[in-house]
Amino acid sequence: MLDPGHGGEDRGAHGPKGLAEKAAALEIARAVAAKLEAAGFQVDFTRDDDTFIPLWDRARKANEEGADLFISLHLNAARARAARGSEVYFLSLGQGDDDELAAAENAGAGMGPGGSSPDSVVASILDDLAQKAYLQDSERLAVAIQNQLNRLAGIKERGVKQAPFIVLRGAAMPAVLVETAFISNPREEQKLKDPKFVAKVGDAIAQGVRRYFAAGNGTVRRRAVEGPK
Ligand SMILES: [Zn+2]
Repeated sequence: MLDPGHGGEDRGAHGPKGLAEKAAALEIARAVAAKLEAAGFQVDFTRDDDTFIPLWDRARKANEEGADLFISLHLNAARARAARGSEVYFLSLGQGDDDELAAAENAGAGMGPGGSSPDSVVASILDDLAQKAYLQDSERLAVAIQNQLNRLAGIKERGVKQAPFIVLRGAAMPAVLVETAFISNPREEQKLKDPKFVAKVGDAIAQGVRRYFAAGNGTVRRRAVEGPK
């Protein structure tokens, strides 16, 4: 299950030239899907247009469809314009490596009709436990994807990180959040508008998924492929 971050009234971050995170994330998700489908994976999206989807509903959809993996796709933003590259996160149940980023990504939780308040999150403690059972696999998936994105960006070492992202909490499967690039960096914003770069990013993330399974992590459930909806 691919989860393009934000959507609708929740635009997410934006670049200095105005590129919206919600639009760039959807393009990246489509690129990942193209590569995964070519490799024989069955792919679905939490949104495939510019719609607002509450954070809670995203993992819920993945659970209902029995997804093997949940991959949330985002763009990073930093005050330091030179910040660049990719960061892959898995859930931290307590304090994380970048709680400011988590707060920014969690801001969509209160938006939209049916947007849940943080209070109702407390009621989702069982959901928290669901992801807790998958944290080791989530970390392995994060490492596999991070390695491929580092290769793409020409960065040697960039460890995976943990943060309390709400969107990951309810996922009853290995789940990661990819901050694909810094939309706040003028050069990376420009690259994100280039379909060739977006295709490379999609290929890197898909390669990470393939390596995760190739290393014997997790199993892909065999299901009848659904027809068009
Ligand atoms: Zn985001």
